[in-house]
Amino acid sequence: MNIVRKVRAVEKLFKTLEKDILKLQEKTGLHCVDNCIKCCTTSNITASALEFYPLAYYLHKHNLADSVLVNIDQINDPKICPVLNYMSTENRRAGCMFYEQRGLICRLFSYNYRTDKHGTRLIAACKTINEEQTVLVANANRILLTKPLGPKATAYYQRLQFIDFKEAQKQYPIGEAIRIAVESVVTYFHYSGKKVV
Ligand code: SF4
Ligand code: SF4
Repeated sequence: MNIVRKVRAVEKLFKTLEKDILKLQEKTGLHCVDNCIKCCTTSNITASALEFYPLAYYLHKHNLADSVLVNIDQINDPKICPVLNYMSTENRRAGCMFYEQRGLICRLFSYNYRTDKHGTRLIAACKTINEEQTVLVANANRILLTKPLGPKATAYYQRLQFIDFKEAQKQYPIGEAIRIAVESVVTYFHYSGKKVV
């Protein structure tokens, strides 16, 4: 599968995931805290380059790939996400600069469930949501006792593997995953001579 087809396949997966997340949010009321960027600043986020192909494609299409690569070099720490805006300014809120194109790990933060060793389904909410939305979390877990609701993270990782098994398995610190994705897309278009559409 060429890189453009992978981009489209990952985008399709994200569309399904978004619907699943929306269902979870609507049924439980769970929501991110305003202006919170804690999950994006966690130091041990790992991701595949594959899940960032849509971001890389978008950056290349909008002539932003070079500036992100320069940013990655300047940060010089693969554990730091290069597309996170840390500070709110007059024109821009703190948060992901390319929210629509964020990776699978980013989409699943807090909005997925897991099963414990007894097979009990539990919402995998972050510390902030667990602390600030205790009633909603308890309600979500009550619903999950009776039926699955929202995304199961492992199922989505499996679906990513269907797109490209090897690439989905290779996990990198987030800055490195994004760098590999951007370089792969830029290189593909450079050598294929194809135009971004
Ligand atoms: S998932 Fe949790 S840590 Fe991340 S932005 Fe939402 S509330 Fe904040
Ligand atoms: S890509 Fe966006 S959502 Fe994901 S860690 Fe970076 S800033 Fe956060």
